[in-house]
Amino acid sequence: MTMITNHMPTETLRALDAAHHMHPFTCAEELEARGARIITQAEGAWLTDSEGNQILDGMAGLWCVNIGYGRPELAEAAARQMRELPYYNTFFQTSHTPAISLAARLAELAPGDLNHVFFASSGSEANDTNMRLVRHYWARQGKPDKSVIISRRNAYHGSTMGAASLGGMAAMHAQGGLPVADVHHIGQPYWYGEGGDMDPREFALMRARELETAIAEIGENRIAAFIAEPVQGAGGVIIPHEAYWPEIQRICAAHEILLIADEVICGFGRTGNWFGSQTFDIKPDIMTVAKGLTSGYLPMSASIVSDDVAAVIGGDEFAHGYTYSGHPVTAAVALENLRILDEEKIVERVGSVTAPYLARRWAELAEHPLVGEAVSVGLMASLALSPDKSRRAAFAAPAGSAGLICREHAFANNIVMRHVGDRMVVSPPLILSEAEIDTLIERVRKTLDETHQQLISDDLMAAAAA
Ligand SMILES: *Cc1c(COP(=O)(O)O)cnc(C)c1O
Repeated sequence: MTMITNHMPTETLRALDAAHHMHPFTCAEELEARGARIITQAEGAWLTDSEGNQILDGMAGLWCVNIGYGRPELAEAAARQMRELPYYNTFFQTSHTPAISLAARLAELAPGDLNHVFFASSGSEANDTNMRLVRHYWARQGKPDKSVIISRRNAYHGSTMGAASLGGMAAMHAQGGLPVADVHHIGQPYWYGEGGDMDPREFALMRARELETAIAEIGENRIAAFIAEPVQGAGGVIIPHEAYWPEIQRICAAHEILLIADEVICGFGRTGNWFGSQTFDIKPDIMTVAKGLTSGYLPMSASIVSDDVAAVIGGDEFAHGYTYSGHPVTAAVALENLRILDEEKIVERVGSVTAPYLARRWAELAEHPLVGEAVSVGLMASLALSPDKSRRAAFAAPAGSAGLICREHAFANNIVMRHVGDRMVVSPPLILSEAEIDTLIERVRKTLDETHQQLISDDLMAAAAA
């Protein structure tokens, strides 16, 4: 077979891609018809594609390239570790320095008594670990019936059988026989889309109290844990009202259930603190981390658990583990990534400089005729497209039609912005400068103008009935 390289014509690469490569969350026939955009290089917050376009990556890859692209220190850390010890496992009473150092460093960074780390390679796997951990935790204490995990509709926790079951994505549950048993979903704190005429605070409290209602209906003696993202990411960057998390925390404390914070997106600076749990004053028993842990340079995730959970689980063999749990090369890369985030004060700078700046600039977009709301926390932001913003109306066209048109215009304007239904989201690298934020806002605004024009000319500005 001939070697496939970046120097091949884009059309050749596209044809080979469509012929052999099955893509996640993609319709293969559509991909074949249109051809993938092929990314060849990246530096800082900027991507280069096979046609030489310079694209501002408003999504940090998939919410993960926190330190930005092209840091040679991570490549060197990987090369050094590969030469010294490319692989060894952490099963059966063995360990190695990279896994030891990273576990200790994560215990130091994580809030409260989250001092114990179980490694995996993806957010999905870590959440599968969490399902087994919390059920085993109660079983070890003579309560094997405490097995139900409560989650939320429109949550995202990953794509494995367990993690996709925890997630609340209807389109995912519709394929492959999900959810698995003993997962229950309550409503999300999405006032803009679901709050109607209610006061935002009252709505947030109502949605939090659905947890208490579910506990009463299912029975506290049946419930192991509640899992949630501090801020829903893939669900559309849905930032809960400030009344939401304190009420959830109260309910978890009043009942005997564990709280899992899925920090896969929020962790490692995204919200302006090291963890979303700090931004929202959440006291989880377990945190899921992935994505920003390595800035996506290599795949790695972890469950960071409390002293109590670790002590209960530690009494016998936890019959669970992955070949690559604590992989030495990914651990070395994660450590280098954490060093850069810390020593270059990237997290601090998001909190004190770039998040407030993005908040101010992003909020200006709310004046656009097509924008029903524009919100942000840290360096993640979203806006709702609406044909009639005075009443937060949805489009009469199927959900996501306007969002998809907007995403296409964004691509054409060399800005990566994602659509979740008719919400547009950004989650750029944390190293974005203020000048780059200006560029981002400029391109988003142009994209909104063009989307608006197209929706008018395609006759898609009709609002759904109230
Ligand atoms: C991306 C994501 C996951 C899944 O992580 P993978 O590495 O894709 O398995 C889980 N939870 C949240 C909140 C995520 O955003």
